[in-house]
Amino acid sequence: MPVFCVKAESGWLERCGSAERAKQRAVFIIYICENFPMATDMIKIDNKEIYRYLGYRRGTPEPEVVRAVDSCVEELRREVTPRYVYRLYPVESIFTVPGAENPEAGFAGPENIRRQGLLLSGRREEKQIPLLCIAGMEIRSRSLSRNLRGCENVYLMAATLGIGPDRLIARASVTHMSRAVILQAASAAMIEAWCDEVNQRIIKEAAAQGLYCRPRFSPGYGDFRLEYQQDFAQILRMQKEIGVSLTESLLMMPSKSVTAVIGVTAQKQGCVLHGCEVCEKSSNCAFSRNGD
Ligand code: SF4
Repeated sequence: MPVFCVKAESGWLERCGSAERAKQRAVFIIYICENFPMATDMIKIDNKEIYRYLGYRRGTPEPEVVRAVDSCVEELRREVTPRYVYRLYPVESIFTVPGAENPEAGFAGPENIRRQGLLLSGRREEKQIPLLCIAGMEIRSRSLSRNLRGCENVYLMAATLGIGPDRLIARASVTHMSRAVILQAASAAMIEAWCDEVNQRIIKEAAAQGLYCRPRFSPGYGDFRLEYQQDFAQILRMQKEIGVSLTESLLMMPSKSVTAVIGVTAQKQGCVLHGCEVCEKSSNCAFSRNGD
């Protein structure tokens, strides 16, 4: 059962009984939800990514595969309904890893939290695991905590391509299995490209305030468990806003949907949009989402 707490107008943390209440009480929120009928043209897909998903590590595949990929991308562009929602929330770190180098920099540290009367009962014995509080979600994750070090606010985002790709893939798997495989790869590349597009908007928005973004970090990366998608679903009202729900096994429906946390900081980091996996600094960057 999640405990919801927010930084309220008084500047103090308050505990709230529900995501709805937390949302009402939170300050410094930017909320955007849009449906982009024209957005399909804005999604810039790199076909090399599709070839990579199809197992072509280097070079270009045979001409017939290239043609099939182009045709699948065209078909997908007609069928997708890209949507997104994101909001900005304060992030608090309640407990920290002993011995970590300045682990609570930028966060309200444990003493602050105690002063503010938010000592969560029964949590003392779990001190070794960092506890992040974002939009009422309590997250225990060393890897996310490391990624967000120095951040005072984070964006929670969710993006989807809609049900179109799932329908196309289901149809093709009955009649034309190889096309279904290509559609699967192309739609995986497309949702990543759509997330990059939304991420760019967030980066621009942060830059307008002189702030920088960390690379987006999704449930499932490192020890940031998939179960947190349930909290995302409630906090961002994903079903109502962008038509995304969760199955019992925590898979998102439509399947080409993504949730992520994007840290915002005043410290310039020079992060690359495509993430830590392709960043040259990854091997010695303290905030990298690789590892763990
Ligand atoms: S590895 Fe690169 S992209 Fe990842 S946090 Fe560090 S600088 Fe940013």
